[in-house]
Amino acid sequence: MVTNPPKLKVALVDDERLQNLKNAFERQYGGAPLFYACAPGRVNLIVNNSGTIQLANVNPLYNHITVSCSEEIVIDRANPKWYYYFLCGVKGIQEKFGITRLPGMSCVVDGNIPPSSGLSSSSALVCCAGLVTMEGNQQSLSKVDLAEICAKCECYIGTEGGGMDQSISFLAEKGTAKLIEFEPLRATDVRLPDGAMFVISNCCVEMNKAACSHFNSRVVECRIATKMLAKAKGLNQNGFLKLAEVPREMNASQEEMLALVDEVLHPEPYSREEICKALGITSQQFSTELLSANTQHVTHFKLHQRAKHVYGEAARVLRFKSVCDCAPTESIQLLGDLMNQSHASCRDLYECSCPELDQLVDICLKAGALGSRLTGAGWGGCAVSMVPSDKVPSFLQAVREAYYLPDPRRAAMEKQSLFVSKPGGGAAIYLEK
Ligand code: ADP
Ligand code: MG
Repeated sequence: MVTNPPKLKVALVDDERLQNLKNAFERQYGGAPLFYACAPGRVNLIVNNSGTIQLANVNPLYNHITVSCSEEIVIDRANPKWYYYFLCGVKGIQEKFGITRLPGMSCVVDGNIPPSSGLSSSSALVCCAGLVTMEGNQQSLSKVDLAEICAKCECYIGTEGGGMDQSISFLAEKGTAKLIEFEPLRATDVRLPDGAMFVISNCCVEMNKAACSHFNSRVVECRIATKMLAKAKGLNQNGFLKLAEVPREMNASQEEMLALVDEVLHPEPYSREEICKALGITSQQFSTELLSANTQHVTHFKLHQRAKHVYGEAARVLRFKSVCDCAPTESIQLLGDLMNQSHASCRDLYECSCPELDQLVDICLKAGALGSRLTGAGWGGCAVSMVPSDKVPSFLQAVREAYYLPDPRRAAMEKQSLFVSKPGGGAAIYLEK
């Protein structure tokens, strides 16, 4: 069966949230917006000749700002304010089309993704800004191009993320999960089992990825492990930056990579000196070529554990898809087991969980989940649990009683922190009919 891919431009459907956004826009700028974009945070915009980019947010926590179009966009990594994420998206499109002078834009942002909680509020904002800037400059791009541009430009904020978040933000389709693969970027449908639902629960610990070095320190460890593995296999280490590139080059399976990690890397943390010696580089090269700006202080690197996690996780992703392709509903516990292994690996090998998340995952399993794991970067934020559909009400009640109600701060956040999620549609521009 051939189905049409989802369109990037769709007709607007009026709802209360949109009406509120429109009102906020009119109050702010005294005119109606030209179009809306959703990714799935939401932005509306008017292109104008003010020579400035004006950004407002319906949430008073995020202040309004004006940036001049005659100056180069500068993103201060040391101080990741909300509008820098927006400007990342603007800069990405500006560079793609070589736009020397951007036209003015007035935008109002309304996001409903809990920030710093692993659900990628940051990428929603970057992708939405990219989409708005493309449309505002009368340009057109495919969803894959947009995803690649936005993955690259979110790095301007300082976090060296891969492209998962931006890819799914553009390539998502209602009703189906997606396997995301790179080189070339593609998203393949994964049929989720009937009879189970995915429930999100936020442990209510926020982790702002750009404002600390946890995230990038793992990126750096993976980069160093990549070079060590490449060198051990006689490959030119200079060409390799990501762990995924080594098996691609060697045509090796994830399982073969796991064995190679055991052979080449030791579990004891590596010092800078040991790495420099092994790679034949100077301490200066180590700092400038391998470390990021915010990880210059790190002295020890757990290469074995991080590489084991990454290849193990890649193997689990492929196994998850193959179970879904064969008999998802009959083998549902296998899927749950993979999620549980994934959490254990995040906790013990990648060390990106936190006590609250571990406690929440435990509670979710006791409450009837078949599998539960942290989602997103970790160090706080959300867990995702697979729960048999008929057990969802009792699951929600049990998690509520064990995790949220005993703590007044969590109890106050429960409504936006504990909910069932289904695969939804990707980013789009909404035009008035
Ligand atoms: P996440 O896991 O949600 O992607 P990040 O730490 O990567 O978390 O990014 C969170 C940051 O994104 C926030 O600190 C804020 O600067 C920005 N952000 C998220 N949602 C919004 C929003 N609705 N409006 C403005 N900025 C937002
Ligand atoms: Mg993020």
